[in-house]
Amino acid sequence: MTQGAEAAAEAPHPQAAILDGKALASRIEASLTAEVETFVDVCKRRPRLVVVLVGDVAASASYVKSKQQAAARVGIDSEVVRVDDSVVTAELVDLIRRIAAEEHGPADGILVQLPLPDQVDERAVLDAVPPDQDVDGFHPENAGLLSQGRPRFVPCTAAGVQRMLIDAGVETAGKHAVIVGRSDIVGKPLALLLASRGTGGDATVTICHSRSAGLAEITRTADILVAAVGRPELITADMVKPGAAVVDVGINRVVDPATGKGRLVGDVDFAAVRAIAGWISPVPGGVGPLTVAMLLANTLLAAEIRIGHRRGG
Ligand code: NAD
Repeated sequence: MTQGAEAAAEAPHPQAAILDGKALASRIEASLTAEVETFVDVCKRRPRLVVVLVGDVAASASYVKSKQQAAARVGIDSEVVRVDDSVVTAELVDLIRRIAAEEHGPADGILVQLPLPDQVDERAVLDAVPPDQDVDGFHPENAGLLSQGRPRFVPCTAAGVQRMLIDAGVETAGKHAVIVGRSDIVGKPLALLLASRGTGGDATVTICHSRSAGLAEITRTADILVAAVGRPELITADMVKPGAAVVDVGINRVVDPATGKGRLVGDVDFAAVRAIAGWISPVPGGVGPLTVAMLLANTLLAAEIRIGHRRGG
C-alpha cells in the first residue's frame, strides 16, 4: 500500500448527513398553510379530514393525535370518530359509508387508522373509503393509478421518503435503490415511485422481504437503502455500501436495558451505520413527520380535486 492509500484507508469517514424529516416537514407545513388559506378564500370553508380510530391502542391514539395537531397547524379541520374495538367489518364499512355521505360533516379526506382488530377484514374496510376521499392512498384505484405512473393519492410514507431524498439532493436516476419490506403501504408504493420517470425517480429498484436470500449481499449494492420492516436495528453497518443514502422507516418500541425505560428505535443500527453512510434518517424525527406532512398535502389535494381546482389521476 502506498503512503497516500494508507492514509486514505485510515482517515475517518465523515459522519453521514442527517436527513432531518422534522425540519423538512415544518417547511412543507409552512407552504401548505398558505395554500390552505387560498382554498379558504375561494371556498369559504376549510379542508376537512375525518379519522376513524378503532379501540384504544396507545400507539394508534398517539399517531392520530399528531395528525390532528399537524392539521390544526396548517388550518385543516379534523374530526376523530372513535369506535369500540369489538366492532365487526360490516359495522365499520357502514360507518365509512356514512362518513363519506357526510353524516359527520364535510369529509374531503377519510382515513382509517391501522392496525384494525383481528376480527375486522382490513381490506374490506379500506376498500370502502371512496377513492376520491382516500387520502392514505390505499384504495385499489389509487394504487392502480400510481402503478400506471399517473398518481393521485400516493401513500403518505412512500411519498415522504421520496420527498426526503429529493430535498437532500440525493440522486436517484440510474442509481440502485434497495427497499427492504414489501408492504402495500410502504415498500410497494415506494418501489413504484423510485422506479417512475422524473424527479426522485428513474432508479433501478430491488424489493427485499422476509424470504429474500442473501439480504446483506443485496443491501451492500444499494446506493439508496430503505428499511421498512419493523425489526429493531436489522440493518447493520456491514450491510451498507459506503456513502449510501439510508432511510429508516421502521418504528419499533424497545425497552432500554440500561434505564428500563421504553424508547423508539428504527430498523437501522443508527450509530454504526452513520459512520459509513452518506446520508441517514433518524428515528424519531425522520420519516415519521414527513408521513404526517404528506397526509396534510393529500387532504388539501382531495379538497381541491373536489371543487375542481386540481385534476386527480
Ligand atoms: P409490514 O409488517 O406490513 O411489512 C414488513 C415487511 O418486512 C414485510 O414485507 C416482510 O416481508 C419484511 N420483512 C420482515 N422480516 C424481514 C427480514 N428479516 N428481512 C427482510 N424483510 C423482512 O410493515 P409496514 O406496515 O410496511 O411497516 C414497516 C415498519 O415501518 C414498521 O416498523 C412500521 O411501524 C413502520 N412504519 C413507519 C411509518 C412512518 O411514518 N415512519 C409509517 C408506516 C410504517
